[in-house]
Amino acid sequence: MEIRIAENCGFCYGVKRAVNMAQDTSNHLDHSYTLGPIIHNPQVVANLENHGVYAVDSLDEIPKGTVIIRSHGVGPAIYEEATDKGLHVVDATCPHVKKAQQDAKSVIDSGMSLVILGEKKHPEVISINLWAQNKGIVIESEEEAKILPFVENRGVVVQTTFSQFKFQSIIDILEKKTQNLKVFKTICTATQERQNSAVDLAKTVDLMIVVGGKNSGNTNRLAEVCRDVGCTTYHIETAAELELAWFNQVNTVGVTAGASTPDWIIKEVIDTMNEFEELLAKEADWAEDFKKGTVVEGTVVEVDDDK
Ligand code: SF4
Repeated sequence: MEIRIAENCGFCYGVKRAVNMAQDTSNHLDHSYTLGPIIHNPQVVANLENHGVYAVDSLDEIPKGTVIIRSHGVGPAIYEEATDKGLHVVDATCPHVKKAQQDAKSVIDSGMSLVILGEKKHPEVISINLWAQNKGIVIESEEEAKILPFVENRGVVVQTTFSQFKFQSIIDILEKKTQNLKVFKTICTATQERQNSAVDLAKTVDLMIVVGGKNSGNTNRLAEVCRDVGCTTYHIETAAELELAWFNQVNTVGVTAGASTPDWIIKEVIDTMNEFEELLAKEADWAEDFKKGTVVEGTVVEVDDDK
């Protein structure tokens, strides 16, 4: 079984930056909190907790100290509230997300209708919309685009991890529903590179393993684009979820990982697949021997060719 790794996968610039900022904060300051998990990866979050950085759901849970804004960003009210509470703010919002927030704000400020392409409940999309006074309509499918009304002026901002393939087909629909359409293609470079590499790889292998948090938007998107090219795809968070049966009769396996998946988790997955390969090879040898009649109930016996 040959294991091939996607050319671009794993931690992106924005996630590395956010995790480094959180680690740095824990090294220098006590009482550090992130508003929500710093990234969508439970293993990384647990690791940070061991270093004294705790994920909380709201500023009400932070009595004093430092609040770290995660890479997905937050709305403008959170900065004001944190400052009013006397909290020290470390802003780890990814610069690509900041750009999408500012683009959404500019669309609303200029009086246009705003459409945000993305997952309605994703924290990044929520933060983008908050910068636009929550006036954006969030859609994520061609079907939802088709039922939007015709308007004169419309701006489009995109979740940074949105599928670039779906993006274009939705824009094609919106062009017919808008007189002046201004598109801010805010899908980040890391997302585009990871999706392109995943698709290239999925086209050449029997099976794809996508590694990353089940709640990670960009990881879910990687699994989606692999399935869309017809490749059998499993999305796992850790090596413990791998099943031996998936690899039976499989010659080539591709591995990719979301932008919030650390290298050590990818390595554990590859190590486990290598162990599976050895097991399957042994099983195949045993089956071959069994066919020849050289194995009886797990014991190798001598075969006398004259009998
Ligand atoms: Fe930033 Fe893109 Fe990484 Fe999101 S996936 S954190 S937007 S670099």
